[in-house]
Amino acid sequence: MSDRALAIRAGRLLDVATGTIDDDRVIHVGIDGRVTAIGSGADGIPDGAADVDLGGLTVLPGLIDTHTHLIGDVQTAGVPATTTSGAEEALLGVRHARQTIAAGFTTVRDLGPFRAFTDCALRDAIDRGDVVGPRMQCAGAFITAPWGGGDVVGLAHDIVLPEEVRFGVVRSVDEVRERVRRLLIGGATMIKCIGTGAVLTRGGVPGAPELSEAEIHAAVEEAGWYGTHVAVHAHGAEGAKRAIRAGARSVEHGSYLDDEAIAMLADTGTFFSVDLYDGEWALGPEGPTDWPAETMRKLRESQAAAEAVMAKAIERGVRIAFGTDSGVYPHGLNARQFASYVRAGMTPLAAIRTATTMAAELMGWSDRVGTLAPGRFADLFAVAGDPLADVTELERPVFVAKGGQVVRDDRKGRAPAA
Ligand SMILES: [Zn+2]
Repeated sequence: MSDRALAIRAGRLLDVATGTIDDDRVIHVGIDGRVTAIGSGADGIPDGAADVDLGGLTVLPGLIDTHTHLIGDVQTAGVPATTTSGAEEALLGVRHARQTIAAGFTTVRDLGPFRAFTDCALRDAIDRGDVVGPRMQCAGAFITAPWGGGDVVGLAHDIVLPEEVRFGVVRSVDEVRERVRRLLIGGATMIKCIGTGAVLTRGGVPGAPELSEAEIHAAVEEAGWYGTHVAVHAHGAEGAKRAIRAGARSVEHGSYLDDEAIAMLADTGTFFSVDLYDGEWALGPEGPTDWPAETMRKLRESQAAAEAVMAKAIERGVRIAFGTDSGVYPHGLNARQFASYVRAGMTPLAAIRTATTMAAELMGWSDRVGTLAPGRFADLFAVAGDPLADVTELERPVFVAKGGQVVRDDRKGRAPAA
């Protein structure tokens, strides 16, 4: 909310739906932070409206990352959630939320913290205006098999962890239903199931299925009764097929999908949230030096496989949504993944759509984010160059606003955002 209407003058405005760039547009924003109209600069600025001049810049809708982990430390060599308290993890989340929105990402799905509901607390603080950060859908915790990819694995067998750290560990269909219900009543707004092993979990086998189709289906049905959806982490083909047949809204990662799984994604319209940059970062010169050799080996294998799967998925017309798994790599570098998508075979416009229209559709939020149009939130960011000619322009935001509120403003003569 603000006390006066806004008129944001865009030198160039990218309509992500049509792919056209229009010169000299004005985005009119009401006091509720939503777009009221998009007009021409020649029509002038209404009396009383605050005037934000983004002349010379290209304006886009705020970006969406459908796979983040804002809570807790960035991935370390240690066992997660065992050397930091819940309070420390939540406060690290405050920094990560700020870094994420400063990078132009005004909306995210948070696919789970290791300490249950800490992501929901962060979202509530952002919604109250106490903390600067993106709009969030939150998973609350991971639904996972004991010793599965979402469990805390790597401690001695006789260490007992607090309930909040193993909140989503389930042993049966009935336990899935009970945990999903508790998560959604407790503040989660979507559900994350760990359908296969994970690359970064010690001893985990990324291709191995860890939840049955009946368990995933129970989560999907239960979440549907509460009006929301399920994302399924699945590296392996069998786990992904179970997720698709069970009615998951999105498959995450998909590093080892076979042609049949890719065809099933395309034919059912199930969304595919593909992270490529995290692996590039970890295997590149900026990557960690202390991750276990076993983890690095799995990462090298899964990264090469994932790149091949992505190329086929693009070819086959799968609905790909932008998801980076931030927290594996440092927060705020999310936009570097656009170049990864373009290298895999997408046009820059198609890559931008994965983080705008497609991501909004995945989240069920097309009525509020993903495009700049009357009724949608005035979430936007601006870059100096043309992202359709060079998609890496998106890595250099000059201006970011959420609901018409300025989050970042690096225009000439203004201090860069922290
Ligand atoms: Zn993840």
